[in-house]
Amino acid sequence: MAPTIAPVPKDLKKRFQTPRQEMPAQDPIARGKNFQEVTLGLEAEAAKLEAYRCIYCKEPECVQGCPVGIDIPGFLHEVEKGNFAEALGILKSTNLLPAICGRVCPQEEQCESLCKTGKSKGNRPVAIGRVERFLADWERAGGIAKPVEVAPPTGKKVAVVGSGPAGLACAADLAKLGHKVIVFEAFHKPGGVLVYGIPEFRLPKAIVAKEIANLEKMGVDIVCDFAVGLTATIEDLQKAFDAIFVATGAGLPYFMDLPGENLGGIYSANEYLTRVNLMGAFDPEHNDTPVVRGKNVVVVGGGNVAMDAARTALRLGAEKVRLVYRRSHDEMPAREEEIEHAEEEGIDFTLLTTPVRYLGDDKGRVVAVECRKMELGEPGPDGRRKPVEVAGSEHQFPADVVVVSIGNGPNPLVPRTTPGLETKKGKIVARDGSGRTSMKGVFAGGDIVLGAATVILAMGAGRQAAASIHEYLQTGTW
Ligand SMILES: Cc1cc2nc3c(=O)[nH]c(=O)nc-3n(C[C@H](O)[C@H](O)[C@H](O)COP(=O)(O)OP(=O)(O)OC[C@H]3O[C@@H](n4cnc5c(N)ncnc54)[C@H](O)[C@@H]3O)c2cc1C
Repeated sequence: MAPTIAPVPKDLKKRFQTPRQEMPAQDPIARGKNFQEVTLGLEAEAAKLEAYRCIYCKEPECVQGCPVGIDIPGFLHEVEKGNFAEALGILKSTNLLPAICGRVCPQEEQCESLCKTGKSKGNRPVAIGRVERFLADWERAGGIAKPVEVAPPTGKKVAVVGSGPAGLACAADLAKLGHKVIVFEAFHKPGGVLVYGIPEFRLPKAIVAKEIANLEKMGVDIVCDFAVGLTATIEDLQKAFDAIFVATGAGLPYFMDLPGENLGGIYSANEYLTRVNLMGAFDPEHNDTPVVRGKNVVVVGGGNVAMDAARTALRLGAEKVRLVYRRSHDEMPAREEEIEHAEEEGIDFTLLTTPVRYLGDDKGRVVAVECRKMELGEPGPDGRRKPVEVAGSEHQFPADVVVVSIGNGPNPLVPRTTPGLETKKGKIVARDGSGRTSMKGVFAGGDIVLGAATVILAMGAGRQAAASIHEYLQTGTW
C-alpha cells in the first residue's frame, strides 16, 4: 500500500519538542518473580501524543524500513486525531498480527531506525511499535469487533504445514479468498515460536490464542499433534490438497560439542523454553512437565533467545543467572530493550567469555562450567570483530542448570522425508516473492527458507505465498 502523504503541519517545532512517551513497565524486582507481561502499554493520551511526534515527512522512510510496508504515517495521523478504528484499519490492511508485532518486532532496527524525527538533533524516533501495540490492545479491550469478510468457497483445498507466524498469515489470507485451509502442527498447541519460544512475560499467550481463534472463525481448521514427515508425508498431502505451504521454522537447536554437554541439567534453549512456556513447567501445581530449577544458572549466548532463557530462569527462582557471551556488549545480537530489561532484573552479563567444558557429579548432573576468556580480534566476514581465546585464562563457575542458546537450524523433518524438494544447507529453496519450491504446488516460507529470522519477515513470507498460491489455484501455471 502506498504510504499516506499529508501536508506538512505548521507546528513542526512543537512536534519536535514533544518527548518520546516512555513505556510503563512492571517494577524490575517484582517482575523477576512473576511471568506477567513486563511492559504495560501506552494509555490512549500517551499514544496520541506519541503519534503527534510524527512530522509528516514527504518521503516516509519508516515505511521502507518495514518488511511488510505498513502505511505507518497513515495510521499515526489517525491516532493523533483519536480515530483509533480508522488507524487500526490502515494497520491491519498489511499487518494481520499487530498485537504480536507491536510487542516483538525489532522496531529499532527497522521502521524506527529510519524515522526522521529521530534523526533531528537530540531527538528520539517516534515509538511506532508502541503505538501499533496500543491500537491492537485497544481493539482487544473492546474498541471494535469487526468480523473479517470471507469470500464464497472456491472448492480448493490448501494444507499449511506449521502454525507459526508464516503459516498463520498464509492461512488467514487464503481463507479470506474463500479457499479451504487445514493447518497441520506437530506440537499439541498452535502458534510456533510465538507460543513455545517467546515467554509469557514478553508476549502473553492469550494474545496469540485470540489471533488463532479469529482464524478458526474464518473457517480454518487446525490439526495439532500432526508431524508432516511422520504422521503423513508431503506426498500424501499432495493427493488430498491442491497446494501446500511449508512453514516449519528453524527449531533445530545447535550445540557446541563440548566435553560434558550431555550431562543432566544442560538444555538447549528450545527445550528449556518449550518445557516452561508451552508445557507449563513454570506452574508445577497444575502441570506434570518437569524442568530443573537451578540455583546457579548459566545461559550461553547473546541473542534474544538467550535473554528469554536467562529471564525465564530468574522467574523460576534461580539465585544467580549468569549470561556467558563470547563477544562484548556492543556485538550482542539481542534487541537493546531486551538487554536493558535483563540487566534491570539482575542478570549477570559475563562478557568476552566462552564455555570450554562442563563438569558433573557422580550422578551425571552438571555442577560447573569451565570457561575461557576471549578478546576481540580482526573483523570477520560479517563485519563483527572475531573473538579470540586467551590462552591460560580458564576459570570455573558453579552451575546446576545450563541453557545453550547459540542459534537454531531449519527443521529437518520435511526436507528429509520429501524427495525432490530442493534444499540448501538444510533450508528449503523457494523463489523470492512467491515461495514456489522445486515441487509443483508446494510453497515454503518463513524461517524454514530464511533461517532463524523474525516474526514480521515470516508473516510477510506467508502473505506473499498466499497471493502466489491463489494465482496458482486460479491459473494452474507453475
Ligand atoms: C526464544 C525466541 C525468541 C524470539 N524472539 C523474537 C522477537 O522478539 N522478535 C522477532 O521478530 N522474532 C523473534 N524470534 C524469531 C521468530 O519467532 C521466528 O523468526 C518466527 O517465529 C518464524 O516463524 P515461522 O512461522 O517461520 O516458524 P515457527 O514460529 O518456528 O513455526 C513453525 C511451526 O512449525 C511446526 N513444525 C515444524 N515441523 C513440523 C512438521 N514436520 N509438521 C508439522 N508442524 C511442524 C513447529 O512445531 C512450529 O510450531 C524468536 C525466536 C525464538 C526461538
